[in-house]
Amino acid sequence: MAVTVSTLPELKAPKGSGGFLVKNLYLSCDPYMRGRMRPPSPASYIPSTFFGFQLCQPIEGFGVSEVVDSDNPEFQAGDFIAGMTGWEEYTLIQKPQQLRKISRNHAVPLSYHLGLLGMPGFTAYCGLYELCSPKAGEFVFVSAASGAVGQIVGQLAKLEGCRVVGSAGSATKVEMLTSKMGFDAAFNYKEEADLDAALKRYFPQGIDIYFDNVGGEMLDAALLNMRVKGRIAVCGMVSQHAVTDSGPGIRNISNVIVKRIKMQGFLQSDFLHLYPRFLDHVTAHFLAGDIVYVEDVDDGLESAPAALAGLFTGENIGKKVVRVVPP
Ligand code: NDP
Repeated sequence: MAVTVSTLPELKAPKGSGGFLVKNLYLSCDPYMRGRMRPPSPASYIPSTFFGFQLCQPIEGFGVSEVVDSDNPEFQAGDFIAGMTGWEEYTLIQKPQQLRKISRNHAVPLSYHLGLLGMPGFTAYCGLYELCSPKAGEFVFVSAASGAVGQIVGQLAKLEGCRVVGSAGSATKVEMLTSKMGFDAAFNYKEEADLDAALKRYFPQGIDIYFDNVGGEMLDAALLNMRVKGRIAVCGMVSQHAVTDSGPGIRNISNVIVKRIKMQGFLQSDFLHLYPRFLDHVTAHFLAGDIVYVEDVDDGLESAPAALAGLFTGENIGKKVVRVVPP
């Protein structure tokens, strides 16, 4: 393996650069980062401006950081920010991307700005409200339900008066969904030989809203169980990241026509104008105790590669973050 040795830059933002230097506190592990390790493809959902991690450069991702030196009047030393940063201890930020200042509310831990109040929580919010228009009494199914996005989708849907069932990949996760997060029911999809039969068991009257985080066979089974005028938010296909041959594919797609299903893919970045409304909505519910949030924290920068890889084997219980400097 090639080893690159570089000189540490001075821990200051260069004068006249307009940049600012941050100390990284928490790093977010997100499934889309796997896509940035592949060559660019028209089928990828990563915006071209975000393409590809550079060899011998720190991985980029969402993080929570503290400004330690600044040549930018909008950011002062001592400010806390959430946005794109590097998987390293200090990052010099020249071009802020999806970056916002965190107003310090001590009831909300800093790391929650990577999940509950960060990109995954926002994905849950815009996917559910903008694509699926949930109504009281509707039947909602969420896959990868205990993860960063899924746990928020299910709890928001419950607040709208829906009946919510989640699928997850272990007994611990299933138990957490019903006992802690208020889902009406949950099941371990790994123990179901027939996903169609499982969905029929949990949704004898059919599914109004399917929030799809996994794609593949679960999407195919959900298509069979949708009600007329159902809505499917196609959020992610985490089951497909490691799949090299396309397998049997989606066989039940004709249900979209027969049942007049609205099935729509989306990127949270399409809805950034809604971010302030999302922050108000979810913060208020969290502070009122209506939403619980589970995160899974690994300590030390050296733990980050395994933490990221673990998303694809279901190691994470809740939102996976890395605390750069353990307390
Ligand atoms: P999670 O916190 O849910 O972590 C990933 C989880 O996926 C794992 O814990 C595991 O849970 C599940 N998983 C892994 N492999 C498989 C598999 N082969 N089959 C089924 N489930 C699997 O991740 P996020 O909440 O951050 O992301 C959820 C989805 O949302 C992803 O598909 C992601 O790409 C997508 N996303 C889309 C965005 C958008 O703008 N459209 C933005 C953000 C995320 P389990 O143990 O339950 O299997």
